[in-house]
Amino acid sequence: MPYRVRENLFIGNISDAAEILQNGSAEITHVLSVLSSPSISFFTEWRSGLTIPAKEIKKVYVGGSENDLGDGSKSSLSPDKLLYSLEYAGKDLKLVRMAVSIRDMESEDLLDYLDVCLDFIDRSRKAGSVLVHCFAGVSRSAAIITAYLMRTEQLSQEDALESLKESCEFVCPNDGFVDQLKMFEEMGFKVNHASPIYKRFRLKVLGDSYNRGEKIDSSKLGADPGMPTGVSSEISPSPNDENRRTTAYRCKKCRRVVALQENVVDHIPGEGETSFAWNKRRSGNPFNKSDEPECSSLFVEPLRWMSAVEEGALEGKLLCAHCEARLGYFNWSGIQCSCGSWITPAFQLHKSRVDISSV
Ligand SMILES: [Zn+2]
Ligand SMILES: [Zn+2]
Repeated sequence: MPYRVRENLFIGNISDAAEILQNGSAEITHVLSVLSSPSISFFTEWRSGLTIPAKEIKKVYVGGSENDLGDGSKSSLSPDKLLYSLEYAGKDLKLVRMAVSIRDMESEDLLDYLDVCLDFIDRSRKAGSVLVHCFAGVSRSAAIITAYLMRTEQLSQEDALESLKESCEFVCPNDGFVDQLKMFEEMGFKVNHASPIYKRFRLKVLGDSYNRGEKIDSSKLGADPGMPTGVSSEISPSPNDENRRTTAYRCKKCRRVVALQENVVDHIPGEGETSFAWNKRRSGNPFNKSDEPECSSLFVEPLRWMSAVEEGALEGKLLCAHCEARLGYFNWSGIQCSCGSWITPAFQLHKSRVDISSV
């Protein structure tokens, strides 16, 4: 039986979901399935003899126009990936089922599904009651509901999970999900693709993908800010708008733009990759920046002009795409900044080889 977490909100496993989909429920009207496959056939493959009718409402892809996040290209998920499917399902097609495809693995991207899942839970609770389920009802569904409690009740990750355990004591999101929930908390209970926390996360996801042997092609690299048709011109509807001006880094030798401020992935000088400590340390220590060691390098996300990166090497030089001056170095295994911090993976520009200006 599903466990009641809040009014109109339940958590359960695949058996609970199958029971409700097959026989209907007096209470549950909506189902959020978090399984390795979003297809309804997952249930019939899990238990033969089960028949669950379903009628598609829509499928939404990460880079699709229906994805109202509007910044699919900045997500860690590839643009052609299914974000979620929505369908009528179960007995007499009376239930509304949303399905997202997430595996219960520490390296799995949970963050990029949170907004759509939490919005679905919100809408479902207003229209009826919602069951959030995964396979065992322990990790994935618990992570989603923890995020939901965090956002709706402004709870820390720890407090939200403790509160969920009062309804269902054996829940235990995997460590990778817990880390991502802490990032969600640091970002103010929303997934902000422009925040340094998310940028570091995206870089880590890319590094994991490289380490698994996946090819890093140009679709996984950021737009080249030195090209006239770059992203920067698309996002500036009014060229006269002073607020749209942004800091640019140019090759010192030929002045070509090689990075914009939005491409920079900040790190805490002198510390490791403890991304969660970033905001706390900043806000807790506002007058004490002078004792931070100076960084001689700038670390950025991998960009399309870095042709050596696309060739698949573990490490190599970063040469200016226009004049071939040496600007820095990249290494998927990491580089240590002069301040002592290790950045992994690292795409490093020497501050002495670039000039700062505005565009
Ligand atoms: Zn540094
Ligand atoms: Zn140059």
